[in-house]
Amino acid sequence: MRTKYFLLLLCLIGVSCTTSEEKISRKAERMHDSFLSIDTHSDTPMRLTRGGGFDPGIRNDRGCVDFPRMKEGRLDAEFFAIFLGQGPRTPEAFEKVHMQTLATFDSIYATLARNSSMAAIALTPEDAQRNKEQGKVSVFIGIENGYPLGNDLSRIKQYYDLGSRYITLCHSSNNDICDSSADKTGPEHNGLSAFGEEVVREMNCVGMMADVSHISDESFYDVLAVSKAPVIASHSSCRALCESPRNLDDDMLQALKKNGGVIQICILSDYLRQPEPNPAYEEKAKALREKWSAMGELTDEQQEQRWAEYSALRQEYVRLATVEDAVNHIEHVVDVIGIDYVGIGTDFDGGGGLQDCPDVSMMKNITKELIRRGYSRDEIAKIWGGNFSRVMREAQSLAVSQ
Ligand SMILES: [Zn+2]
Repeated sequence: MRTKYFLLLLCLIGVSCTTSEEKISRKAERMHDSFLSIDTHSDTPMRLTRGGGFDPGIRNDRGCVDFPRMKEGRLDAEFFAIFLGQGPRTPEAFEKVHMQTLATFDSIYATLARNSSMAAIALTPEDAQRNKEQGKVSVFIGIENGYPLGNDLSRIKQYYDLGSRYITLCHSSNNDICDSSADKTGPEHNGLSAFGEEVVREMNCVGMMADVSHISDESFYDVLAVSKAPVIASHSSCRALCESPRNLDDDMLQALKKNGGVIQICILSDYLRQPEPNPAYEEKAKALREKWSAMGELTDEQQEQRWAEYSALRQEYVRLATVEDAVNHIEHVVDVIGIDYVGIGTDFDGGGGLQDCPDVSMMKNITKELIRRGYSRDEIAKIWGGNFSRVMREAQSLAVSQ
């Protein structure tokens, strides 16, 4: 008899859990219908230029971003970051990487032309809103690494006119603009170089947002001292919760608030939760590295295959961070500097992805967790793009007023 009641109770609990989960899911969908959602960093253009026939117009089972999956995840706008790996700092290399940048712009626009019924470029938050009303997802463009500027300030306006709205000042190595947070040789300029100061001023003039993700702490404070416009960290998380030079500490968050900028929480697992020692994974990853480096120069298809093998290995051996971890970082920013300075920049197709949000089709799970924690519709709208849109508008109106 007792067992019967127990089973009945379990059944009722099960039913009520499902019902409340469904309710939260529907609430999240209604919310997404009512505001503009923007992810400020994906490396998806790498997949466009790498060959292998990637088409974001069809639903893919590889990679993290395509237009049908953006619709499923209720994400309205994705920043396609044109990533440029750091190479030699010579006139020839600068010219070569500049041409590579232009070619990537071309492939983004060709992709959008092929999928014009489904997706369109956005240059302002208003463009993205209009695209949403027409049932289309939006692609914004950013540039990850100021390396292709070489020593030529005029390229900032050139890239802006081509549609880019931010430049991440450097990547994992120091460049002519500033020091990186990850360069193994240590600082070269002790922050922003003299040329870097000119770059930031020119970005202010043009309306191009300065992205402080990847740069060193000294570079960060130097950029804030020079920039008249609010800045963005397009994909960074909180150092208080996960020690990494890629993340911002609480003093940096305070400085960012003073500047009026915004931190877009990066959902790359190692920046959300301190990675645990994982010898089995390390051993397999080492073998994979050796296998691919022995093959010399790789074709586009081979590069795609290498990326797929690394992703599969991570999937099998690494316990990725979760949506709860990501929302802990959002909540930390809210606790330290308030609701007006935080957003989301996934780093999808560049290492970003969570156990329960591995690709863009699952983005709604972040909203569901924010609802569970008691955030209101207006607060969630700020996190999903309201704060970032404010910064973007301020950067653009400052440029017009100069
Ligand atoms: Zn990055």
